[in-house]
Amino acid sequence: MKNTNTQPNDNTEEKDMNQDLHELLLDELSDIQNAEKQLVAALPKMIKAAKSDELRSALETHLEETKGQVTRLDEVAQSLNEKLKSKKCAAMEGILKEADELVKEQKDKSSLDAAIIAAGQKVEHYEIASYGTVRAWAEQMGHSEAVDLLQETLDEETAADEKLTEIAESLEGKE
Ligand code: ZN
Ligand code: FE
Ligand code: FE
Ligand code: FE
Repeated sequence: MKNTNTQPNDNTEEKDMNQDLHELLLDELSDIQNAEKQLVAALPKMIKAAKSDELRSALETHLEETKGQVTRLDEVAQSLNEKLKSKKCAAMEGILKEADELVKEQKDKSSLDAAIIAAGQKVEHYEIASYGTVRAWAEQMGHSEAVDLLQETLDEETAADEKLTEIAESLEGKE
């Protein structure tokens, strides 16, 4: 791993690269925060639609975690002495639009919960990819407090994804 120290270096080209990567990190953090906010708005509908108690409670738990993740991203920005911008995450918008269509199509079908789980796992995988990336960039730039905060969220996203897999498998067994 390179550049894990926070010492300024006098290589100009490397300084420009760090500046560009720092801006990219902030843009991506702003994007992820918007994605989390979209998810906070969308999850209650999915919770309402879910039939299995286990699925509903997993989604409720993750809704509360997601609210915390929105705030945690402000803490990440603070640790960098920065503020996040308002930005629209087009990817989350698309994933949630598709999820909404899927849930509508599955209404009154026994496969409804399977559809909600599928949508939920697409969301979690997008988040895992995003947090994995920003965590790696923060580490590369030596922002260790940001790394720790991003890792906390990454762990929650991974656990949420694993929980959904577990529920999917238990639903399969009941059919
Ligand atoms: Zn930076
Ligand atoms: Fe999240
Ligand atoms: Fe995005
Ligand atoms: Fe999540």
